[in-house]
Amino acid sequence: MKLTVLPRVYVGRKMSSFVSIVNPCTGKMDWKLQDDRYDYHQEIARSGYADMLHDTERNKKYYKALADAIHIKRKLGEPVNVLDIGTGTGLLSMMAAKLGADTVTACEAFEPMAKCASKIIQQNGFGDKIQIIPKRSTEITVGSDGDMPERANILVTEVFDTELIGEGAINTFTHAHRELLQKNCIVVPSAANMYVQVASSDFIRRWRDIRPIQLPGGGTILPPPGMTRCGGAPALHDLQLHELPQSQFQILSSPVLVFRFDFSGKSPLKFDNQSERTFQALCDGKTDGIFMWWDLEMDTKNIINLSCAPGWAHPRPEELQWRDHWMQAIYYPNQPLSVQKGENVKIISNHDEYSLWFNLQSENSVENSFSDGPACVCGMHVTFSRSQIGMLNDPHRHDIYTSLLKQTLTPSSTVLTISDGSLLPLMAAKLGAKKVYALETNNFTRRILEQFITHNDLNEVVIVLKKEPEELTPEDVHGHKIDLVIGEPYFQSAVLPWHHVHFWYAVRQLSGLLSEQAAVFPKLLTIKAMAVCFRDLWKIRSPVGMCEGFNIQLFDDLVETSSEVSDSEVEPQPLWEYPCTACSDPVTVQSFDFCKAGWLDNLCLSAEATIKLDTSLNEKCNGIVLWTEYQFTDQLKVSLGPREKVVVGGKVNWDFYSKQGIHLLTNKGTDTVEHLKTISVSLKFIPINGDFDFVFKTKCS
Ligand code: SAH
Ligand code: ZN
Repeated sequence: MKLTVLPRVYVGRKMSSFVSIVNPCTGKMDWKLQDDRYDYHQEIARSGYADMLHDTERNKKYYKALADAIHIKRKLGEPVNVLDIGTGTGLLSMMAAKLGADTVTACEAFEPMAKCASKIIQQNGFGDKIQIIPKRSTEITVGSDGDMPERANILVTEVFDTELIGEGAINTFTHAHRELLQKNCIVVPSAANMYVQVASSDFIRRWRDIRPIQLPGGGTILPPPGMTRCGGAPALHDLQLHELPQSQFQILSSPVLVFRFDFSGKSPLKFDNQSERTFQALCDGKTDGIFMWWDLEMDTKNIINLSCAPGWAHPRPEELQWRDHWMQAIYYPNQPLSVQKGENVKIISNHDEYSLWFNLQSENSVENSFSDGPACVCGMHVTFSRSQIGMLNDPHRHDIYTSLLKQTLTPSSTVLTISDGSLLPLMAAKLGAKKVYALETNNFTRRILEQFITHNDLNEVVIVLKKEPEELTPEDVHGHKIDLVIGEPYFQSAVLPWHHVHFWYAVRQLSGLLSEQAAVFPKLLTIKAMAVCFRDLWKIRSPVGMCEGFNIQLFDDLVETSSEVSDSEVEPQPLWEYPCTACSDPVTVQSFDFCKAGWLDNLCLSAEATIKLDTSLNEKCNGIVLWTEYQFTDQLKVSLGPREKVVVGGKVNWDFYSKQGIHLLTNKGTDTVEHLKTISVSLKFIPINGDFDFVFKTKCS
């Protein structure tokens, strides 16, 4: 978050500024020296172009369909004039040039990419064949004094996102047919089909609604009715659907074709559309979620088809391709319907220019899940991320917290909770604490907690504290002495797993309010590391080099320069979506024991751990994963990493509700992924400014 900018300074040859950033660990404002073009570099480094260029199925099918289109036009005796909208690295234009097109026009709206494409095209020897227009296609003019002398008769374009139309494809095609293309042109791809599949799954529904929490002894924490009726978050829930464990959902319908988008120009694309389809429920269940994906008809006969379906629904499973630039999505009906096997259920699908929404109606009931698209009115769905909602519903976490509270609470306990949006204060109150103070400095999560407190009639017992921890005085806790401090701990500003260490920074400020025997939970924070082999995730940062015979290295260089400016050694990723195999046992990098007084007063804490790779494995280590564990008692532990004990050589099953930190090994620099024996992980933690600095060193045999 940038708030203020101080005067510019020069560091080396780079122009940098001081920007103020809230440090997620300390919760304090820091001044950081940051490259002025940080946002620009981050946009390039994280743009996903690399993953797209590693998508071999996509590249090959575009190449093949383009070859077919050019062949058709040649046979008709027409000159071949190709327009490539959104050329990126220039790849599709170079394909067209190589295939013998007479002219190729490439446009690109994102300026740094247009520049990069121009250089790549020169380097590959197509400089005089391909004309680059650094503009959005909708700004292009045709005519003797325009950007293009005449209309093109082939359009090749790849302007799709996970929702297909989210990047503005409908208008891009509509405008191109109206202004830039000949009537009888061929478009690659020619059309797209959108499919949905209805699923019954308590598990996926837990990403959408906060469920009642049953407590031991019969108590229940109920969500406010406004939340259960709410339309939900408008943000797309895109995910690697294929990684969802099959045991966690039941399919209620076969894939249903809900929309066909004809890009060929034969019939106009609709900017707003609705469709109704009926399916017969395959089994009893609830319509908890609607899975969505699409396919592309690359050529006019749909002989070349590219499908984004998850494995279980893929028309050609042998072609299943991993990709991160197009995933699948889940849409959540407002109120799930209960349906019975054989019952007819209607799916009403809607789209506008950029987004989609779905409703369901059952023939046997008057209930329906109608809404005009998602719109959160309760505040919860826009305050909490899907993973935070999932975490608040996680039965495993509930068990740990309720066990802990049952072990530690007495009827005279005064409890203080510190987190963002945790329901721990309600659990403590319901399980018998005399008084609970909930420190919620986050304005947004506090409002949600207050709704829960009121709805569960706990205003007398749970008091919400809004102040920063250092501002709290004994009057704020009515002169009581706190005897139990507890946190999940979870804070929304955390980016990496160890940022939740903020809990203990807050506790440290509160010593004056605690009783002498006060207990603080969790007691221990452990940072763990492990070497892994990612099946696919390495592709997001791996240089492309050659792509379908074209040299894209200049693009790799651009990404590398930008990563140096904007990327840190460790980046967050939700690993349950990205399969990997363990190449070593987990090792402890550092354990922070919070019972030891003054640990945050150290100037610097250093730690080093050595990961020993199992060299007998066939898997090649290509990454290091870091995560944290919170130990509440000897038995009660929450892992933000593996859900089960790690077996070296086996697939790792990660927590569904947190991101882990990853460091990818590449063949460049000092990291070499061949013949690795050990990896040393060193951590330098500077408590005063909350900096965690990791250094990784690889050693070969
Ligand atoms: N064609 C390249 C890149 C595809 S990514 C390839 O297949 O590898 C899509 C690119 O299209 C992005 O670079 C984006 O900036 C650009 N883009 C999207 N809509 C556009 C439009 N209407 N006009 C120009 N560029 C567009
Ligand atoms: Zn809501």
